[in-house]
Amino acid sequence: MPTEHIDSQSLVSLKADYDKKIYDLNQLIEVSRSLNSTLDFPILIESILYICMGQLRVLNVGIFIKDQLEQDHLSLHRNYKGFEIDHDFDYLIPEDSALLNLFKREPKAYMLGELAQLIPGDEQSLSVLRQLTPSLIVPLVAKGSVNGILVLGEGMDGEIFSQENKEYIMTIGLFAATAIQNASLYEMATTDMMTKLKLKHYFMTTLGEQFERSSRKGENLSVIMIDIDHFKILNDTYGHSCGDHVLIKVANIIRNSIRRVDVAARYGGEEFVILLPEADQDMAVAVAERIRTKVEKHIFRYEEEEVSTSISLGVAQLNPGKDFTSESLVKRADAALYQSKHRGRNRVSTAV
Ligand code: GH3
Ligand code: MG
Ligand code: MG
Repeated sequence: MPTEHIDSQSLVSLKADYDKKIYDLNQLIEVSRSLNSTLDFPILIESILYICMGQLRVLNVGIFIKDQLEQDHLSLHRNYKGFEIDHDFDYLIPEDSALLNLFKREPKAYMLGELAQLIPGDEQSLSVLRQLTPSLIVPLVAKGSVNGILVLGEGMDGEIFSQENKEYIMTIGLFAATAIQNASLYEMATTDMMTKLKLKHYFMTTLGEQFERSSRKGENLSVIMIDIDHFKILNDTYGHSCGDHVLIKVANIIRNSIRRVDVAARYGGEEFVILLPEADQDMAVAVAERIRTKVEKHIFRYEEEEVSTSISLGVAQLNPGKDFTSESLVKRADAALYQSKHRGRNRVSTAV
């Protein structure tokens, strides 16, 4: 067997190469661990962006994803870093664009110039990317579909990405794409597809966790129960599809009336429930009253019809002397809702 002579200089540089490889692999294990540790979309997006900044040493980074389930385009997520954004410009990339088709066929890291040559006709997508003057554009592809695009600015030291760098970025992109895929599957499994509010099971689980935390820390926690008034009559008068339309609109009003930390869910047919962490009864009543007024004033337009409706609400604040379980809190909010119905509907009542 021929023996190869390796001088000590080469050995030193070989060792340095392997050390770097080991370091990179350890970094990738950390990245994978961190991206797999959450199914919560905002937290996941934040970690993807920070990982890119830290691992790839870039100051500007943004991500295009579907903001909502069933959306037919990717849009620049509001949590971008560094880029100068024109707030009057729509940073949207349609799902059927040549850009996304190219990404599906050939998932790799691209420079803007390469894309301009490969898909010269897709002026819409190119102009969106051009606005950001990216150094590198990385498709996030999982299970054959593009579920995001990473857009990276210049490296901190101004150097161009090497082939090795690009491969490293693609590995991170693969992890990110899988994590996004998992998070959107989780989102789908916990969301009511009609109203786009959370499902009851998700609500009860989250409430249970929040109940434990609030009880331990002695923090406020409130729940609002909502039921549409005489909804059966509305269905009977205007038809079930009109009823569906009203349900979706009421859900939108609820969603637009709460904070990001609050969780709104469809509790049943025409019943909704909201969890308000760190809110006392007065704050919860103010939110409930705001939603009640908005629904009362809203004119629901469906086909040729103009429909009005109202809701009844019940509010309960966590009372450590009464609520030994999270179910008890919901029960008291439900009893308050029943009071609102009993007292003539279209009103807010508080639990005793
Ligand atoms: P109350 O003021 O006492 O709440 O009267 P109500 O008619 O709203 O209450 P009831 O519980 O008698 O009826 C609820 C109705 O909601 C009956 C059901 O057909 C309707 N409903 C439940 N889910 C849906 C849905 O997804 N779409 C439509 N269109 N109607 C629904
Ligand atoms: Mg009901
Ligand atoms: Mg009802």
